[in-house]
Amino acid sequence: MSGSQRSQILAALASVFGDSASQLGSAELENELKPAFVARPKKVEQVQSLVRALRPLVLSGDCKLAIRNSGNRGSYFPGSVSADVQEEVTIDTRRIKGIKLSDDRSTVKIGAGERWSSVYAKLQEYGLVVAGSPDGNAGVAGFLLSGGLSILSGETGFACDSVVEFQVVLASGEVVRANTEEHADLWRSLKGGLNNFGIVTSFKMKVFKSGPIWGGTAYYSPEAFMELLHWACVFAEDDSDEHANVSCCIDYRSGEKDAWCEMYHTQGKEYPPSLMPFMETQPQMEEDCTVHISTQLKLSKYWSSAIESACTNPRHLSASITIKGCMVSVLEDVYEEWEKTLEELKHIIGLSFTLGFIPLTKSMLKKSAEAGGNAMAIPPSDGPLFLAMVHTVWEGPTHDSRVFEEIENLMAVCRRLVGGKGHLHRFIYGSYAHHEDDVIAGYGRESVSRLRETSKKYDPEGVFQKGSPGGFKILYHYPVLP
Ligand SMILES: Cc1cc2nc3c(=O)[nH]c(=O)nc-3n(C[C@H](O)[C@H](O)[C@H](O)COP(=O)(O)OP(=O)(O)OC[C@H]3O[C@@H](n4cnc5c(N)ncnc54)[C@H](O)[C@@H]3O)c2cc1C
Repeated sequence: MSGSQRSQILAALASVFGDSASQLGSAELENELKPAFVARPKKVEQVQSLVRALRPLVLSGDCKLAIRNSGNRGSYFPGSVSADVQEEVTIDTRRIKGIKLSDDRSTVKIGAGERWSSVYAKLQEYGLVVAGSPDGNAGVAGFLLSGGLSILSGETGFACDSVVEFQVVLASGEVVRANTEEHADLWRSLKGGLNNFGIVTSFKMKVFKSGPIWGGTAYYSPEAFMELLHWACVFAEDDSDEHANVSCCIDYRSGEKDAWCEMYHTQGKEYPPSLMPFMETQPQMEEDCTVHISTQLKLSKYWSSAIESACTNPRHLSASITIKGCMVSVLEDVYEEWEKTLEELKHIIGLSFTLGFIPLTKSMLKKSAEAGGNAMAIPPSDGPLFLAMVHTVWEGPTHDSRVFEEIENLMAVCRRLVGGKGHLHRFIYGSYAHHEDDVIAGYGRESVSRLRETSKKYDPEGVFQKGSPGGFKILYHYPVLP
């Protein structure tokens, strides 16, 4: 950065804060980028002033403007959320707080920087739940702008489908509310639209009455995994219980493999028929099973601590594909390829390597459509689908290139195998995507052209397209899949 760029940026930041530069703590790969300035606004007006002050510099190419929230749960590769050394300013929305229940207790307004556990704690006082992250420590903004898969997905669609209003600071610095009545195009585009349209400062979401929730994790010997995949296919095909939610995973950690299923019944029905096969599959480590009657808050805290103990090393990489239909043999193909990659990576210090299958049922996709649709635009008739997600954690930079290479290779092989059998779906879930994936193109041609129109209308100069590094961008995505 030249001296003149630096002083222009400092002047712009000083006009809002006086003094603003500091360093962030987050995933190690992100930290290595060390943005020159981190602005941590607390109020919408400060975000507005920041955008107004920095916009001319972004447009002249003198400054990049990155947006981040908690940044510790998904986007952990270089350049994903922070600006890099050359690029200058990161706007960190973590201090934008506030959780306010509407007088009629039908919606809650949540500041972008809240964590889900705080939201659950507040709603629990009123016997309410919301479609937030199973992980209480995850940030609200990134989760909802990526789509969001919650334990309520069977009832509500993606988490973003419960958002009735976004408050957004646009590229012009104007603050708008996007809902079904005002800026409905922006409202729909933001549901899965990531950081493409502005800086979201709050979300108004529908809330739901809830009693206790039955859920937790059951653990198995790895040889049970094939049977679990069979039951996962039966569950997704059957699609008879919208209150039930399950994902099936296998992981390698500390030299050992374990299979596990995370399952929930949001109406608190213990051992519901839809989830019984997962409870009965053997060999199971029954003494480790955590499935019990609980609350959204307690389950989310438990899940956060499980994630934290599993992810002690800060270098993370996710990648995923979406599989169409419920063919066990297709899921098994992906599992076999994961096993082969594991053999290549096993020697890496601190390796934790997970493969997860997450069903997106037809009824879940129907709920998204009924809620007004979203940027991901998956027609219910495409369901049921499975997200096949790979998550890798390792230690130190020595093995970075080996991990990146192996994971890229694994995903390419899986795409070829699944695609060869006619089961590859265009969708790639943003929160589990590899940074080189074409997430936006995976939303499909019609949706991409709608998103482009929205971007042109609300950000005609392309501030958030050209000037905001990280995430997955709309205007420069080509080709678009059908
Ligand atoms: C172990 C693990 C488990 C997970 N489990 C789940 C799960 O069960 N379900 C699920 O759906 N996801 C899950 N995730 C993904 C996680 O929820 C996402 O990574 C989420 O984006 C984190 O939210 P954040 O607010 O910290 O966003 P960040 O990581 O800070 O940002 C994510 C993206 O959103 C943009 N962004 C952030 N804040 C704003 C804002 N205010 N305005 C505009 N753009 C913004 C950023 O620029 C970036 O592109 C998991 C991830 C991990 C590692």
